[in-house]
Amino acid sequence: MAYLTLQGINKVYPNGFHAVHDFNLEIQKGEFIVFVGPSGCGKSTTLRMIAGLEDISKGDFFIDGVRANEKGPREREIAMVFQSYALYPHMSVYDNLAFGLTLQGVDEEVIEKKVLATAKILGLTDYLDRKPRALSGGQRQRVAVGRAIIRKVGVFLMDEPLSNLDAKQRVTMRSEITQIHRETKATTIYVTHDQTEAMTMADRIVVMKDGYIQQVGTPRELYFDPVNMFVAGFIGEPPMNFIEGEIKGGKFVFSGGEIEASASLGAENVAKYEGKPIVMGFRPEAIKLKGSEENAYSLECMVELTELLGDNTNVYADLNGARVILKVDPHFTPEEDAPWAFEIPHKSVYWFDKETELVIK
Ligand code: ATP
Repeated sequence: MAYLTLQGINKVYPNGFHAVHDFNLEIQKGEFIVFVGPSGCGKSTTLRMIAGLEDISKGDFFIDGVRANEKGPREREIAMVFQSYALYPHMSVYDNLAFGLTLQGVDEEVIEKKVLATAKILGLTDYLDRKPRALSGGQRQRVAVGRAIIRKVGVFLMDEPLSNLDAKQRVTMRSEITQIHRETKATTIYVTHDQTEAMTMADRIVVMKDGYIQQVGTPRELYFDPVNMFVAGFIGEPPMNFIEGEIKGGKFVFSGGEIEASASLGAENVAKYEGKPIVMGFRPEAIKLKGSEENAYSLECMVELTELLGDNTNVYADLNGARVILKVDPHFTPEEDAPWAFEIPHKSVYWFDKETELVIK
């Protein structure tokens, strides 16, 4: 049986705004789940309903098989780390970590053991006497995480916990949180709008948009098997390229020319979409240099701008009106303001119904 079950969960705010629609999800004990999606898609609202900080308007929420809709936040055995990690500024790191346990009346000796163990996991042992203002952003964040994990709770909720950190600290904390999860094995739900965080940390990702779940799956499933254009465009960096066109006389006709669609779309789908608008998708990193692949489409673009990033170069190009981003080995960086030919392996092409935006298989 799943540890957390969300069945048909809806949230309608008092002003009538329907923020979450029919949210269904089963979370197993020990899973690291990431809710990801653009600002305003309902991630925090869903998390707050799980925490008991927000009423569930409709639907059922179960913890370990027991309906928990009416349980208060404290009864739910859930710990939460927020965007702004409010530490007590006048207390030392030790006291910040110990605070919750002290309130619960836990024995001093037990508290000391727990604080030292938690500090060790988080690399805070040398900072226990410091006040929060004498810590870096990353260290403060670790204290905030420590305050949550020191209580042995069943579920650990995190709402954009890394958003106040700089890019470098975010990368470090990302792997630290993954490491902490491996050690504590606490069921975790983590909210972010950053697809890289989702891809690198999650066992399973829930992609949301406008209050609706778009897809639930492992990072691999979402990357290789997106169900629609939204997921395909949201997961992956730079995002997937989309080229609009239509099937005419069995070919995919777009502003940049035409290609034999059946090799990647299949004869049956080509027939089905004859005369209809359709979208071709391919990832920037899926392209190959001209002449390197047998089963591939050859295309030519005008290179507008190249960005050398070190391990690769992002090429911004114009495919006769369609803007595309291509990722190439920096040793083969093409010239700017010049034509450039590349290939897309048939197996790397995705097709989407233009109207429904669903993937065509
Ligand atoms: P972000 O990444 O910006 O935090 P989010 O995906 O977490 O976004 P939510 O905070 O869950 O989004 O908000 C979802 C929607 O509900 C938004 O459109 C928001 O404006 C709206 N909303 C949030 N709180 C309330 C409220 N108390 N009353 C009315 N609408 C609200």
